[in-house]
Amino acid sequence: MSTAVGIALENGYARALPELGVPWTADPAPDAQLVLVNTGLGIDPAAVTPENLLGEGVAMAYAGHQFGNYSPRLGDGRALLLGELPDGRDLHLKGSGRTPFARGGDGKAPLGPMLREYVVSEAMHALGIPTTRSLAVLATGEPVLRERGPEPGAVLARVAASHLRVGTFQYAAATGDVALLRRLADHAIARHHPGSTDYLDFYRRVVEAQAALVARWMQVGFVHGVMNTDNTTISGETIDYGPCAFLDVYDPATVFSSIDRGGRYAFGNQPAVLQWNLARLGEALLPLIDESQDAAVERATEVVRGFTAAYDTALRAGWQAKLGLAEAPGALLDDLFAVLTEQRLDLTATMRGLAEHLRGGPAPVEGPWLARWRAEHPDPAAMDRANPVYVPRNHLVDEALTAAVAGDLEPLQWLLEVLTRPFEVRPGFERYAVPGDGTPFVTFCGT
Ligand code: AMP
Ligand code: MG
Ligand code: MG
Repeated sequence: MSTAVGIALENGYARALPELGVPWTADPAPDAQLVLVNTGLGIDPAAVTPENLLGEGVAMAYAGHQFGNYSPRLGDGRALLLGELPDGRDLHLKGSGRTPFARGGDGKAPLGPMLREYVVSEAMHALGIPTTRSLAVLATGEPVLRERGPEPGAVLARVAASHLRVGTFQYAAATGDVALLRRLADHAIARHHPGSTDYLDFYRRVVEAQAALVARWMQVGFVHGVMNTDNTTISGETIDYGPCAFLDVYDPATVFSSIDRGGRYAFGNQPAVLQWNLARLGEALLPLIDESQDAAVERATEVVRGFTAAYDTALRAGWQAKLGLAEAPGALLDDLFAVLTEQRLDLTATMRGLAEHLRGGPAPVEGPWLARWRAEHPDPAAMDRANPVYVPRNHLVDEALTAAVAGDLEPLQWLLEVLTRPFEVRPGFERYAVPGDGTPFVTFCGT
Protein backbone atom coordinates (compact mmCIF):
# COMPACT_ATOMS: atom_id res chain seq x y z
CA MET A 1 0.00 0.00 0.00
CA SER A 2 1.11 3.53 -0.72
CA THR A 3 -0.57 6.85 -0.16
CA ALA A 4 -1.39 9.50 -2.72
CA VAL A 5 -3.76 12.47 -2.66
CA GLY A 6 -4.44 11.68 1.01
CA ILE A 7 -5.79 8.24 0.12
CA ALA A 8 -4.31 4.81 0.85
CA LEU A 9 -3.96 3.09 -2.51
CA GLU A 10 -4.14 -0.63 -3.17
CA ASN A 11 -1.45 -2.26 -5.28
CA GLY A 12 -3.62 -5.02 -6.67
CA TYR A 13 -2.10 -4.94 -10.14
CA ALA A 14 1.46 -5.00 -8.84
CA ARG A 15 0.66 -7.86 -6.48
CA ALA A 16 -1.25 -9.98 -8.98
CA LEU A 17 1.02 -9.35 -11.96
CA PRO A 18 4.55 -8.48 -10.81
CA GLU A 19 5.94 -9.72 -14.15
CA LEU A 20 3.93 -7.05 -15.97
CA GLY A 21 5.45 -3.98 -14.37
CA VAL A 22 8.54 -2.34 -12.98
CA PRO A 23 8.36 -0.47 -9.65
CA TRP A 24 9.33 3.09 -10.42
CA THR A 25 9.20 6.59 -8.97
CA ALA A 26 8.04 9.80 -10.61
CA ASP A 27 10.69 12.41 -11.31
CA PRO A 28 10.72 15.16 -8.69
CA ALA A 29 9.44 18.56 -9.82
CA PRO A 30 10.42 21.10 -7.18
CA ASP A 31 8.71 24.02 -8.93
CA ALA A 32 5.51 22.21 -9.89
CA GLN A 33 2.28 24.20 -9.94
CA LEU A 34 -1.24 22.89 -10.11
CA VAL A 35 -2.97 24.11 -13.26
CA LEU A 36 -6.32 22.27 -13.11
CA VAL A 37 -7.96 20.06 -10.50
CA ASN A 38 -11.15 18.09 -11.02
CA THR A 39 -13.53 18.47 -8.06
CA GLY A 40 -15.98 15.93 -9.52
CA LEU A 41 -14.12 12.69 -8.85
CA GLY A 42 -14.77 12.27 -5.14
CA ILE A 43 -11.16 13.13 -4.28
CA ASP A 44 -10.52 16.02 -1.91
CA PRO A 45 -9.06 18.71 -4.18
CA ALA A 46 -7.02 20.09 -1.27
CA ALA A 47 -5.09 16.80 -1.20
CA VAL A 48 -4.31 16.97 -4.91
CA THR A 49 -0.87 18.57 -4.68
CA PRO A 50 2.38 17.95 -6.57
CA GLU A 51 3.91 16.45 -3.40
CA ASN A 52 0.98 14.06 -3.02
CA LEU A 53 1.01 12.98 -6.65
CA LEU A 54 4.63 12.59 -7.69
CA GLY A 55 5.36 9.39 -5.80
CA GLU A 56 6.05 5.71 -6.26
CA GLY A 57 4.24 3.46 -8.65
CA VAL A 58 4.61 0.87 -11.35
CA ALA A 59 5.50 1.33 -15.01
CA MET A 60 3.18 -1.13 -16.73
CA ALA A 61 4.45 -3.48 -19.43
CA TYR A 62 2.58 -3.94 -22.68
CA ALA A 63 3.15 -4.68 -26.33
CA GLY A 64 1.09 -3.39 -29.22
CA HIS A 65 0.39 -3.00 -32.88
CA GLN A 66 1.10 0.61 -33.83
CA PHE A 67 -0.40 1.44 -37.23
CA GLY A 68 -0.47 -2.30 -37.86
CA ASN A 69 3.17 -2.96 -36.93
CA TYR A 70 3.87 -5.10 -33.90
CA SER A 71 6.17 -3.83 -31.14
CA PRO A 72 6.89 -6.52 -28.56
CA ARG A 73 7.81 -4.04 -25.85
CA LEU A 74 6.10 -0.67 -25.49
CA GLY A 75 5.03 -0.17 -21.88
CA ASP A 76 4.65 2.99 -19.84
CA GLY A 77 7.61 4.98 -21.14
CA ARG A 78 6.52 8.14 -19.39
CA ALA A 79 3.66 7.02 -17.20
CA LEU A 80 3.12 5.30 -13.86
CA LEU A 81 0.32 3.46 -12.17
CA LEU A 82 0.29 4.85 -8.62
CA GLY A 83 -2.21 2.22 -7.47
CA GLU A 84 -5.92 1.62 -7.11
CA LEU A 85 -8.31 3.95 -5.32
CA PRO A 86 -10.78 2.52 -2.76
CA ASP A 87 -13.42 2.22 -5.52
CA GLY A 88 -11.05 -0.01 -7.49
CA ARG A 89 -10.16 2.54 -10.14
CA ASP A 90 -6.55 3.22 -11.18
CA LEU A 91 -4.77 6.43 -10.29
CA HIS A 92 -2.14 7.06 -12.91
CA LEU A 93 0.39 9.68 -13.97
CA LYS A 94 1.46 10.63 -17.48
CA GLY A 95 4.55 12.73 -18.17
CA SER A 96 6.23 11.76 -14.89
CA GLY A 97 9.67 10.97 -16.32
CA ARG A 98 11.58 8.26 -18.17
CA THR A 99 11.01 4.65 -17.16
CA PRO A 100 12.80 1.47 -18.31
CA PHE A 101 10.23 1.36 -21.16
CA ALA A 102 11.09 4.84 -22.46
CA ARG A 103 13.22 3.71 -25.43
CA GLY A 104 14.15 6.97 -27.22
CA GLY A 105 11.54 9.11 -25.48
CA ASP A 106 12.25 11.80 -22.91
CA GLY A 107 9.58 10.59 -20.48
CA LYS A 108 8.04 14.05 -20.43
CA ALA A 109 4.82 15.63 -21.62
CA PRO A 110 4.12 19.20 -22.70
CA LEU A 111 1.41 21.24 -21.02
CA GLY A 112 -0.78 21.74 -24.13
CA PRO A 113 -1.38 18.03 -24.84
CA MET A 114 -2.00 17.23 -21.16
CA LEU A 115 -4.60 20.01 -20.94
CA ARG A 116 -6.06 18.68 -24.17
CA GLU A 117 -6.50 15.22 -22.64
CA TYR A 118 -8.06 16.83 -19.57
CA VAL A 119 -10.64 18.85 -21.47
CA VAL A 120 -11.53 16.23 -24.09
CA SER A 121 -11.81 13.33 -21.62
CA GLU A 122 -14.03 15.39 -19.33
CA ALA A 123 -16.15 16.41 -22.33
CA MET A 124 -16.49 12.77 -23.37
CA HIS A 125 -17.61 11.83 -19.87
CA ALA A 126 -20.22 14.58 -19.88
CA LEU A 127 -21.43 13.27 -23.25
CA GLY A 128 -22.05 9.94 -21.51
CA ILE A 129 -19.20 8.13 -23.26
CA PRO A 130 -17.08 5.71 -21.19
CA THR A 131 -13.63 7.25 -20.72
CA THR A 132 -10.69 7.65 -18.44
CA ARG A 133 -11.16 10.76 -16.30
CA SER A 134 -8.75 13.57 -15.59
CA LEU A 135 -7.96 14.43 -12.00
CA ALA A 136 -5.35 17.14 -12.42
CA VAL A 137 -2.75 18.76 -14.60
CA LEU A 138 0.38 20.15 -13.01
CA ALA A 139 3.01 22.21 -14.71
CA THR A 140 6.41 20.85 -13.75
CA GLY A 141 8.23 24.17 -14.07
CA GLU A 142 10.65 22.59 -16.54
CA PRO A 143 10.71 22.96 -20.33
CA VAL A 144 10.08 20.02 -22.66
CA LEU A 145 11.59 19.99 -26.12
CA ARG A 146 9.37 19.10 -29.08
CA GLU A 147 9.61 19.66 -32.86
CA ARG A 148 7.66 22.89 -32.41
CA GLY A 149 10.26 24.14 -29.89
CA PRO A 150 10.41 24.21 -26.08
CA GLU A 151 7.12 24.03 -24.20
CA PRO A 152 6.26 24.03 -20.51
CA GLY A 153 6.35 20.49 -19.12
CA ALA A 154 3.35 18.96 -17.38
CA VAL A 155 2.05 15.86 -15.65
CA LEU A 156 -1.51 14.62 -16.03
CA ALA A 157 -3.09 12.61 -13.22
CA ARG A 158 -5.88 10.42 -14.51
CA VAL A 159 -8.34 7.93 -13.14
CA ALA A 160 -9.45 4.87 -15.12
CA ALA A 161 -11.40 1.67 -14.57
CA SER A 162 -7.97 0.21 -15.28
CA HIS A 163 -5.08 0.59 -17.70
CA LEU A 164 -5.35 -2.99 -18.94
CA ARG A 165 -5.32 -2.98 -22.73
CA VAL A 166 -5.19 -5.35 -25.65
CA GLY A 167 -1.43 -4.73 -25.66
CA THR A 168 -1.16 -6.01 -22.06
CA PHE A 169 -2.56 -9.36 -23.24
CA GLN A 170 -0.29 -9.36 -26.29
CA TYR A 171 2.71 -8.87 -24.00
CA ALA A 172 1.64 -11.61 -21.58
CA ALA A 173 0.87 -14.02 -24.43
CA ALA A 174 4.27 -13.38 -26.04
CA THR A 175 6.07 -14.50 -22.87
CA GLY A 176 4.72 -18.00 -23.56
CA ASP A 177 3.82 -18.28 -19.87
CA VAL A 178 0.21 -19.46 -19.98
CA ALA A 179 -0.12 -19.27 -16.19
CA LEU A 180 0.77 -15.56 -16.36
CA LEU A 181 -1.71 -15.01 -19.18
CA ARG A 182 -4.39 -16.76 -17.10
CA ARG A 183 -3.59 -14.61 -14.06
CA LEU A 184 -3.91 -11.51 -16.23
CA ALA A 185 -7.24 -12.67 -17.62
CA ASP A 186 -8.51 -13.52 -14.11
CA HIS A 187 -7.45 -10.07 -12.90
CA ALA A 188 -9.24 -8.42 -15.83
CA ILE A 189 -12.37 -10.53 -15.34
CA ALA A 190 -12.55 -9.67 -11.64
CA ARG A 191 -12.20 -5.97 -12.35
CA HIS A 192 -14.24 -5.47 -15.49
CA HIS A 193 -16.30 -8.43 -16.54
CA PRO A 194 -17.03 -10.35 -13.32
CA GLY A 195 -19.96 -12.27 -14.79
CA SER A 196 -17.77 -14.02 -17.38
CA THR A 197 -18.47 -17.75 -17.43
CA ASP A 198 -15.17 -18.64 -19.11
CA TYR A 199 -12.35 -16.97 -21.08
CA LEU A 200 -14.27 -17.06 -24.33
CA ASP A 201 -17.18 -15.34 -22.62
CA PHE A 202 -14.75 -12.77 -21.21
CA TYR A 203 -13.50 -12.13 -24.74
CA ARG A 204 -17.09 -11.72 -25.93
CA ARG A 205 -17.76 -9.15 -23.21
CA VAL A 206 -14.70 -7.11 -24.17
CA VAL A 207 -15.80 -7.23 -27.81
CA GLU A 208 -19.28 -6.04 -26.85
CA ALA A 209 -18.02 -3.27 -24.56
CA GLN A 210 -15.69 -1.98 -27.27
CA ALA A 211 -18.40 -2.25 -29.96
CA ALA A 212 -20.68 -0.12 -27.78
CA LEU A 213 -17.86 2.36 -27.19
CA VAL A 214 -16.95 2.93 -30.82
CA ALA A 215 -20.66 3.24 -31.65
CA ARG A 216 -20.73 6.15 -29.19
CA TRP A 217 -17.70 7.79 -30.81
CA MET A 218 -19.38 7.54 -34.20
CA GLN A 219 -22.49 9.32 -32.86
CA VAL A 220 -20.57 12.42 -31.78
CA GLY A 221 -18.02 12.67 -34.60
CA PHE A 222 -15.03 11.71 -32.45
CA VAL A 223 -11.84 10.67 -34.23
CA HIS A 224 -9.46 8.97 -31.78
CA GLY A 225 -6.52 9.26 -34.14
CA VAL A 226 -4.23 6.55 -32.77
CA MET A 227 -6.22 3.35 -32.30
CA ASN A 228 -3.22 1.14 -31.73
CA THR A 229 -3.81 -2.07 -29.78
CA ASP A 230 -2.05 -0.53 -26.78
CA ASN A 231 -4.74 2.17 -26.81
CA THR A 232 -7.69 -0.26 -26.78
CA THR A 233 -8.84 -0.96 -23.23
CA ILE A 234 -10.25 -4.15 -21.75
CA SER A 235 -12.74 -2.13 -19.67
CA GLY A 236 -14.36 -0.48 -22.70
CA GLU A 237 -13.26 3.02 -21.75
CA THR A 238 -11.80 5.52 -24.20
CA ILE A 239 -8.11 5.98 -23.42
CA ASP A 240 -5.18 8.05 -24.62
CA TYR A 241 -6.23 11.39 -26.02
CA GLY A 242 -3.36 12.25 -28.33
CA PRO A 243 -4.14 13.44 -31.84
CA CYS A 244 -7.91 13.12 -31.35
CA ALA A 245 -10.33 15.64 -32.83
CA PHE A 246 -14.02 16.15 -33.66
CA LEU A 247 -15.59 16.38 -37.09
CA ASP A 248 -16.85 19.78 -38.21
CA VAL A 249 -17.91 18.35 -41.57
CA TYR A 250 -19.39 14.86 -41.68
CA ASP A 251 -17.03 12.84 -43.87
CA PRO A 252 -16.02 9.24 -43.12
CA ALA A 253 -12.63 9.82 -44.78
CA THR A 254 -11.64 12.48 -42.24
CA VAL A 255 -8.16 12.12 -40.75
CA PHE A 256 -6.71 14.75 -38.42
CA SER A 257 -3.43 13.22 -37.27
CA SER A 258 -0.35 14.32 -39.19
CA ILE A 259 1.20 10.86 -38.83
CA ASP A 260 -1.83 8.90 -40.10
CA ARG A 261 -0.85 9.27 -43.74
CA GLY A 262 -2.64 6.14 -44.94
CA GLY A 263 -5.89 7.06 -43.20
CA ARG A 264 -5.86 3.85 -41.18
CA TYR A 265 -7.62 5.61 -38.30
CA ALA A 266 -9.97 7.77 -40.40
CA PHE A 267 -13.39 8.49 -38.84
CA GLY A 268 -15.23 5.92 -40.92
CA ASN A 269 -12.56 3.22 -40.41
CA GLN A 270 -12.79 3.22 -36.64
CA PRO A 271 -15.22 0.30 -36.25
CA ALA A 272 -13.26 -1.89 -38.68
CA VAL A 273 -9.91 -1.10 -37.11
CA LEU A 274 -11.30 -1.75 -33.66
CA GLN A 275 -12.49 -5.16 -34.82
CA TRP A 276 -8.96 -5.77 -36.10
CA ASN A 277 -7.55 -4.83 -32.67
CA LEU A 278 -10.03 -7.17 -31.00
CA ALA A 279 -8.89 -9.99 -33.29
CA ARG A 280 -5.39 -9.41 -31.87
CA LEU A 281 -6.86 -9.81 -28.37
CA GLY A 282 -8.48 -13.05 -29.49
CA GLU A 283 -5.11 -14.34 -30.73
CA ALA A 284 -3.52 -13.53 -27.39
CA LEU A 285 -6.29 -15.39 -25.54
CA LEU A 286 -6.15 -18.56 -27.69
CA PRO A 287 -4.23 -20.70 -25.14
CA LEU A 288 -6.97 -19.98 -22.57
CA ILE A 289 -9.89 -20.63 -24.90
CA ASP A 290 -9.24 -24.23 -25.87
CA GLU A 291 -6.42 -26.74 -25.56
CA SER A 292 -6.79 -27.48 -29.23
CA GLN A 293 -5.42 -24.56 -31.22
CA ASP A 294 -7.83 -25.23 -34.10
CA ALA A 295 -10.84 -25.28 -31.79
CA ALA A 296 -9.65 -22.11 -30.05
CA VAL A 297 -9.23 -20.31 -33.36
CA GLU A 298 -12.69 -21.35 -34.46
CA ARG A 299 -14.35 -20.21 -31.24
CA ALA A 300 -12.46 -16.91 -31.06
CA THR A 301 -13.20 -16.19 -34.71
CA GLU A 302 -16.91 -16.59 -34.11
CA VAL A 303 -16.73 -14.09 -31.23
CA VAL A 304 -14.81 -11.46 -33.16
CA ARG A 305 -17.17 -11.85 -36.12
CA GLY A 306 -19.92 -11.01 -33.64
CA PHE A 307 -18.45 -7.53 -33.37
CA THR A 308 -20.22 -6.51 -36.57
CA ALA A 309 -23.70 -7.26 -35.23
CA ALA A 310 -22.91 -5.86 -31.76
CA TYR A 311 -21.68 -2.63 -33.30
CA ASP A 312 -24.63 -2.32 -35.65
CA THR A 313 -27.13 -2.88 -32.83
CA ALA A 314 -25.40 -0.36 -30.56
CA LEU A 315 -25.15 2.19 -33.35
CA ARG A 316 -28.79 1.91 -34.37
CA ALA A 317 -30.00 2.04 -30.77
CA GLY A 318 -28.03 5.24 -30.27
CA TRP A 319 -29.38 6.74 -33.46
CA GLN A 320 -32.91 5.77 -32.55
CA ALA A 321 -32.60 8.17 -29.61
CA LYS A 322 -30.76 10.82 -31.60
CA LEU A 323 -33.49 10.78 -34.26
CA GLY A 324 -36.31 10.71 -31.68
CA LEU A 325 -37.77 7.50 -33.09
CA ALA A 326 -39.90 4.74 -31.58
CA GLU A 327 -37.87 2.03 -33.35
CA ALA A 328 -34.26 1.52 -34.39
CA PRO A 329 -33.75 3.03 -37.86
CA GLY A 330 -32.71 0.93 -40.85
CA ALA A 331 -32.31 2.45 -44.31
CA LEU A 332 -33.37 5.83 -42.93
CA LEU A 333 -30.11 5.95 -40.98
CA ASP A 334 -27.92 4.75 -43.83
CA ASP A 335 -29.48 7.40 -46.03
CA LEU A 336 -28.90 10.06 -43.36
CA PHE A 337 -25.19 9.26 -43.39
CA ALA A 338 -25.20 9.73 -47.16
CA VAL A 339 -27.05 13.07 -46.82
CA LEU A 340 -24.66 14.32 -44.11
CA THR A 341 -21.67 13.36 -46.25
CA GLU A 342 -22.97 14.71 -49.57
CA GLN A 343 -24.16 18.00 -48.08
CA ARG A 344 -20.98 18.35 -45.97
CA LEU A 345 -23.00 18.97 -42.83
CA ASP A 346 -21.91 19.28 -39.23
CA LEU A 347 -23.29 16.33 -37.26
CA THR A 348 -23.87 18.10 -33.93
CA ALA A 349 -25.49 21.26 -35.31
CA THR A 350 -27.60 19.26 -37.79
CA MET A 351 -29.03 17.00 -35.09
CA ARG A 352 -30.01 19.92 -32.87
CA GLY A 353 -31.36 21.65 -35.98
CA LEU A 354 -33.59 18.68 -36.76
CA ALA A 355 -35.32 18.92 -33.38
CA GLU A 356 -35.68 22.69 -33.85
CA HIS A 357 -37.16 22.03 -37.28
CA LEU A 358 -39.94 19.98 -35.63
CA ARG A 359 -40.67 23.09 -33.56
CA GLY A 360 -40.96 25.25 -36.67
CA GLY A 361 -37.32 26.08 -37.36
CA PRO A 362 -35.65 25.97 -40.78
CA ALA A 363 -34.79 22.67 -42.47
CA PRO A 364 -31.16 21.76 -41.62
CA VAL A 365 -30.88 19.26 -44.49
CA GLU A 366 -32.02 19.42 -48.11
CA GLY A 367 -33.97 16.88 -50.09
CA PRO A 368 -36.55 14.13 -49.54
CA TRP A 369 -34.86 12.51 -46.49
CA LEU A 370 -36.47 15.08 -44.17
CA ALA A 371 -40.05 14.14 -45.09
CA ARG A 372 -39.27 10.43 -44.71
CA TRP A 373 -37.94 11.06 -41.22
CA ARG A 374 -40.85 13.33 -40.24
CA ALA A 375 -43.28 10.63 -41.36
CA GLU A 376 -41.93 8.53 -38.44
CA HIS A 377 -43.27 11.12 -35.94
CA PRO A 378 -39.99 11.90 -34.18
CA ASP A 379 -40.08 13.27 -30.62
CA PRO A 380 -38.09 16.52 -30.30
CA ALA A 381 -37.83 16.36 -26.49
CA ALA A 382 -36.23 12.91 -26.68
CA MET A 383 -33.85 14.26 -29.32
CA ASP A 384 -32.73 17.10 -27.06
CA ARG A 385 -31.69 14.57 -24.44
CA ALA A 386 -29.65 12.54 -26.94
CA ASN A 387 -28.02 15.29 -29.02
CA PRO A 388 -25.41 17.54 -27.43
CA VAL A 389 -25.33 21.24 -28.20
CA TYR A 390 -21.62 21.50 -27.46
CA VAL A 391 -18.76 19.19 -28.38
CA PRO A 392 -15.04 20.03 -28.13
CA ARG A 393 -14.68 21.90 -31.39
CA ASN A 394 -11.10 21.73 -32.61
CA HIS A 395 -10.73 25.48 -33.08
CA LEU A 396 -12.12 26.21 -29.60
CA VAL A 397 -9.88 23.62 -27.93
CA ASP A 398 -6.84 25.01 -29.75
CA GLU A 399 -7.71 28.58 -28.86
CA ALA A 400 -8.16 27.70 -25.18
CA LEU A 401 -4.96 25.65 -25.04
CA THR A 402 -2.89 28.34 -26.73
CA ALA A 403 -4.10 30.87 -24.16
CA ALA A 404 -3.51 28.44 -21.29
CA VAL A 405 0.05 27.65 -22.34
CA ALA A 406 0.67 31.41 -22.52
CA GLY A 407 -0.59 31.73 -18.94
CA ASP A 408 -4.25 32.71 -19.41
CA LEU A 409 -6.51 29.91 -18.11
CA GLU A 410 -9.78 31.78 -18.50
CA PRO A 411 -10.74 30.58 -22.01
CA LEU A 412 -10.05 26.97 -20.94
CA GLN A 413 -12.20 27.36 -17.84
CA TRP A 414 -15.10 28.72 -19.90
CA LEU A 415 -14.71 25.91 -22.39
CA LEU A 416 -14.79 23.32 -19.59
CA GLU A 417 -17.84 25.02 -18.13
CA VAL A 418 -19.71 24.57 -21.42
CA LEU A 419 -18.43 21.09 -22.27
CA THR A 420 -19.25 19.59 -18.90
CA ARG A 421 -22.98 20.36 -19.44
CA PRO A 422 -23.16 19.67 -23.16
CA PHE A 423 -26.90 19.04 -23.54
CA GLU A 424 -27.99 22.37 -22.05
CA VAL A 425 -28.50 25.39 -24.30
CA ARG A 426 -26.62 28.19 -22.53
CA PRO A 427 -27.51 31.77 -23.46
CA GLY A 428 -24.34 33.75 -24.06
CA PHE A 429 -22.39 30.68 -25.21
CA GLU A 430 -23.63 30.65 -28.80
CA ARG A 431 -20.18 30.69 -30.34
CA TYR A 432 -19.32 27.39 -28.63
CA ALA A 433 -22.06 25.67 -30.66
CA VAL A 434 -20.80 26.90 -34.03
CA PRO A 435 -18.76 24.43 -36.10
CA GLY A 436 -15.33 25.34 -37.39
CA ASP A 437 -15.21 26.90 -40.83
CA GLY A 438 -14.12 23.67 -42.54
CA THR A 439 -10.45 24.66 -42.79
CA PRO A 440 -8.52 21.36 -42.78
CA PHE A 441 -7.40 20.73 -39.23
CA VAL A 442 -4.22 18.81 -38.38
CA THR A 443 -3.21 17.37 -35.02
CA PHE A 444 0.41 16.54 -34.29
CA CYS A 445 1.61 13.49 -32.45
CA GLY A 446 4.61 15.14 -30.78
CA THR A 447 2.88 14.87 -27.47
P1 AMP B 1 0.97 6.56 -27.18
O1 AMP B 1 1.17 7.00 -28.58
O2 AMP B 1 0.73 7.69 -26.25
O3 AMP B 1 -0.06 5.50 -27.05
O4 AMP B 1 2.34 5.94 -26.69
C1 AMP B 1 2.94 4.85 -27.31
C2 AMP B 1 4.18 4.43 -26.56
O5 AMP B 1 5.17 5.45 -26.60
C3 AMP B 1 3.97 4.14 -25.09
O6 AMP B 1 4.77 3.05 -24.80
C4 AMP B 1 4.43 5.41 -24.42
O7 AMP B 1 4.84 5.16 -23.09
C5 AMP B 1 5.58 5.81 -25.31
N1 AMP B 1 5.87 7.24 -25.25
C6 AMP B 1 5.15 8.24 -25.83
N2 AMP B 1 5.73 9.43 -25.60
C7 AMP B 1 6.84 9.19 -24.84
C8 AMP B 1 7.86 10.02 -24.28
N3 AMP B 1 7.87 11.33 -24.44
N4 AMP B 1 8.83 9.41 -23.56
C9 AMP B 1 8.84 8.08 -23.38
N5 AMP B 1 7.93 7.26 -23.89
C10 AMP B 1 6.92 7.80 -24.62
MG1 MG C 1 -0.98 4.93 -25.32
MG1 MG D 1 -0.49 9.14 -26.33
